Amino acid sequence: MTFDDLDVRKHQDEKEAVRSLLAASPLNPEERSAVRAEAEALVRTARRSARRQGVVEGFLQEFSLGTREGLALMCLAEALLRTPDEATRDALIAEKIGPADWAAHLGRSDNLFVNASTWGLMLTGKIIEVDEEARRDAAGFVKRLANRVGEPVIRAAVAQAIRIMGEQFVLGRTIEAALKRSRTEGYLCSFDMLGEGARTAADAERYEASYAAAIEAVGQASAGLGPEAGHGVSVKLSALSPRYEAVQEARVWSELYPRLVRLAAIAARRNINFTLDAEEADRLTLSLKILERLASEDVLANWTGLGLAVQAYQKRAPEVIHRLAALAETSGRRLMVRLVKGAYWDTEIKKAQMAGRDDYPVYTTKAATDLSYLTAAKALIEASPRLYGQFATHNAHTLAAVHRMAKSRGVKIEHQRLHGMGEALYAAADDLYDGITLRAYAPVGGHEDLLPYLVRRLLENGANTSFVHALLDERIACEDVVVDPMSAVEAAPDRHPRIPPPRHLYADRLNSRGVDLSVAPERDRLVKAARAVRPVPGGPDAVRSPVDRIAIGRAPEATEGEITAAFAAARRAQKAWDGLRGPGRAPILNAMGDTLEAHRDALVGLLVREAGKTLQDAVAEVREAADFCRYYAALAVRQFGPPLELEGPAGETNTLELRGRGVFVCISPWNFPLAIFTGQIAAALAAGNAVLAKPAEQTPLIAREAARLFYAAGLDEPLLHVLFGRGETVGSALVKNPHTDGVAFTGGTDTAFAINQALAARRGPIVPLIAETGGLNGLFVDTTALREQVIDDVMVSAFGSAGQRCSSLRVLFLPHDTADLIIEGLCGAMDALVVGDPADPRTDIGPVIDEAARAALEVHLARLHKEAKVVKVLPAPGGEGLFFGPVLAEISGPDFLDREVFGPILHVVRYDPADLDRVAGALSARGYGLSLGIHSRIEGFAERVRDLAPAGNVYINRSIIGAVVGVQPFGGEGLSGTGPKAGGPNALLRYAVERALSVNVAAQGGDPKLLSL
Ligand SMILES: Cc1cc2nc3c(=O)[nH]c(=O)nc-3n(C[C@H](O)[C@H](O)[C@H](O)COP(=O)(O)OP(=O)(O)OC[C@H]3O[C@@H](n4cnc5c(N)ncnc54)[C@H](O)[C@@H]3O)c2cc1C
Repeated sequence: MTFDDLDVRKHQDEKEAVRSLLAASPLNPEERSAVRAEAEALVRTARRSARRQGVVEGFLQEFSLGTREGLALMCLAEALLRTPDEATRDALIAEKIGPADWAAHLGRSDNLFVNASTWGLMLTGKIIEVDEEARRDAAGFVKRLANRVGEPVIRAAVAQAIRIMGEQFVLGRTIEAALKRSRTEGYLCSFDMLGEGARTAADAERYEASYAAAIEAVGQASAGLGPEAGHGVSVKLSALSPRYEAVQEARVWSELYPRLVRLAAIAARRNINFTLDAEEADRLTLSLKILERLASEDVLANWTGLGLAVQAYQKRAPEVIHRLAALAETSGRRLMVRLVKGAYWDTEIKKAQMAGRDDYPVYTTKAATDLSYLTAAKALIEASPRLYGQFATHNAHTLAAVHRMAKSRGVKIEHQRLHGMGEALYAAADDLYDGITLRAYAPVGGHEDLLPYLVRRLLENGANTSFVHALLDERIACEDVVVDPMSAVEAAPDRHPRIPPPRHLYADRLNSRGVDLSVAPERDRLVKAARAVRPVPGGPDAVRSPVDRIAIGRAPEATEGEITAAFAAARRAQKAWDGLRGPGRAPILNAMGDTLEAHRDALVGLLVREAGKTLQDAVAEVREAADFCRYYAALAVRQFGPPLELEGPAGETNTLELRGRGVFVCISPWNFPLAIFTGQIAAALAAGNAVLAKPAEQTPLIAREAARLFYAAGLDEPLLHVLFGRGETVGSALVKNPHTDGVAFTGGTDTAFAINQALAARRGPIVPLIAETGGLNGLFVDTTALREQVIDDVMVSAFGSAGQRCSSLRVLFLPHDTADLIIEGLCGAMDALVVGDPADPRTDIGPVIDEAARAALEVHLARLHKEAKVVKVLPAPGGEGLFFGPVLAEISGPDFLDREVFGPILHVVRYDPADLDRVAGALSARGYGLSLGIHSRIEGFAERVRDLAPAGNVYINRSIIGAVVGVQPFGGEGLSGTGPKAGGPNALLRYAVERALSVNVAAQGGDPKLLSL
């Protein structure tokens, strides 16, 4: 069976998807009213048994995430216990606890746990008992406490409270403890081993061992009961490989799959339920392929416990159920299918917007997800006995609907809830339905691993669309808590009004369209485009690919005569272009945005071959170029339209307008040969200038192609001249030319100095230089940071694009307490990187741009070997390609570097948090100010670092690369550039002159406006 074709509907238009849901109509009118009545009865009963409320519910009722206290607790819960050093713990506690109003929560909840948290946070040290003083004057007591933050007793009390809180959400720290508790409490469980996904092969090995032990223990405890009556285990495939990604499919088969088969074999031998959890939408197809292969494994023969979780919020959900039924049929194996709504909804929305998808893989309204759930549930029940339905929800309507569908068809099903949640609801269901089969999804693990899970649950259930949220809010009547999704969708079938399709994210321009590389045909198309760039005969002006040094085009250097002619033609054309004003010029820029997208595959192919870009980077670059065009078009309309009327006395009019300066020289670099080349030109054109553009020597072909597309989009050729050649010759001639009215430059700091001096030496009008240069970009991590997030963000920031971005991470600052742990993780994650042919979708790191670049990196590496501690060097592929294996080296401090090292070399500095001022000050003293990263849960820490090492672009708890046009305007200060930032609201101003006009209206005898007021 092929699953790749499922992806056709991955980003299906929401309207269309909702239409088919409504057409499927999973309940008839009679069933609808019966389900509603039952659901209301469930809500009433559940509300009455408040004492049996799960701890999550209790917690949320008291500490809603809409309150400062709820947020403070969530943040503390997420970070406190993994923070090893006392000083940082104190800082975290002080920041989160200090300003919150804990006294308001005192004694308000019957739930022991909630009170325990409150008291613990209020620092009794004894957790539950409160002293007399607190009883008399709670507010004052808390205030005094907040002042005492930093004393050991407070730290201990808060840590204890968080620990107590955490313990409510896990069944046990170990599988043995969890099994014991499930026996005492009489639950049937699916155990989940907590933890983030693997980032290294060692992580994957550790998770495999822990799953294997759990499966054995669960198997022993459930001996003879079988997959339906006995406990089971849930497994996250992302825990079994650092590269569980569609683009790494081959490695999934060679690395992840064998681990999974080993685990499944134990589960089969023990005859228990073994469910593959559902993760991100990008992984759905791959997970189905994995399941299909497992289903046909001989070692797993006759086992009926194999299962998969399916997310109803995905538009593909009903189809997935049909495919699973077909798979059960063809493999002759009964499959267990857990239907959930899905836990990553907000992430899917964000990812699709960032990636410029046509639509989302998930629905944008809660009601559509609920309806999709019912549609998939019906299909799942009807596929019995080939599929065994396990229905996971805490929503009374969903529960009642599923129960009715199964009962009316005489199908046995299982209900599922999360440990710590849904207790009252399922107790009510057990009463109403005279017994149900119920399993709890039970997390097992230590506090350190628990907290991200906990935070997800709090966020999910704290949302105001959540059923649990409404269930808990006594102000909402039972009838209103229960929502029939069919009626809701019929009444409002459209997408969520505040969640436009990703392409329409911005009010006045289109978001650029991305390519989904997790979809096989999309990948294949781009690979074909890269292979289509044909070799040409070599020669002195040949352009050679850094991938294999094969000539792929020619670009003869511009002559002096050509430069003179270009200036003359540009000057002649500029006046009329300027006269069009912004609204007249914008259509051409918008057309260029569309033209770039229409030619995206060919541009990607060229970027891969000429600049050595990976497919992912090449797509991002085409998108950025299109974004520049559309953003500057919108700015041109806004800023270069009718003159701005200014305030003034009666009898005169005063206006200010922006006009083009004349002929702009744009000098762009090879590292963004399309985006920066196009961006500079689009800015200059938008402001009403004509342009002479000199692309980098290494990447003239893509520049030629971009210019061709400008003309195809309707730009008159005299307005844009592309002049190939070296900086020392052509670049210098352009800058020195007396007809140059301004220069936009992106490149090295030394060249910027040279341009600045050349401009200063000219006698004539003083013209602007807009320069974006390099940076010594640092990322500061404190001990509250999450290891996995740090690893992910450092890997892409330092090694993405082979470290050849001006924003790339150069120096990582790690606190002594967690440095070893993070460095070990980084080295493991480096091992999982692929260095090689950028046309191969598996490749993470392509070549560096030319021999000189590689030689400079080699010289620097030799110095690191001599004067620093080289921790890791990844081998680079041999052959003709200009590859350089990523390096991680520890240096003593930022003083070690006196300039930017442009490539995949990450320098690590260990620091003592008490010494932060000195260390960050030393980075700042290098004089650059481009990108800065901070990983911390303490806002005060982030503020301090920003203050100590100011930079043009600061990124907190994310990667430090990939600034998006209009979203993160990009550009540095100090040695890193002049501003204004590219892709920002002020970007066009320096490309323009300002003209003020004052007309004395009274000169003609009087001010008619004044007289007719
Ligand atoms: C036993 C069990 C196992 C689970 N295993 C997994 C798993 O493997 N993978 C996984 O991803 N999740 C899993 N979950 C988590 C599960 O996805 C959430 O708990 C579930 O979505 C909550 O749904 P509900 O019916 O309880 O609550 P409801 O309040 O009825 O639904 C909330 C859900 O609706 C969806 N939603 C919310 N707002 C919108 C919106 N605007 N547009 C569209 N949809 C929206 C989201 O999925 C949200 O979680 C599991 C849950 C349980 C109980």
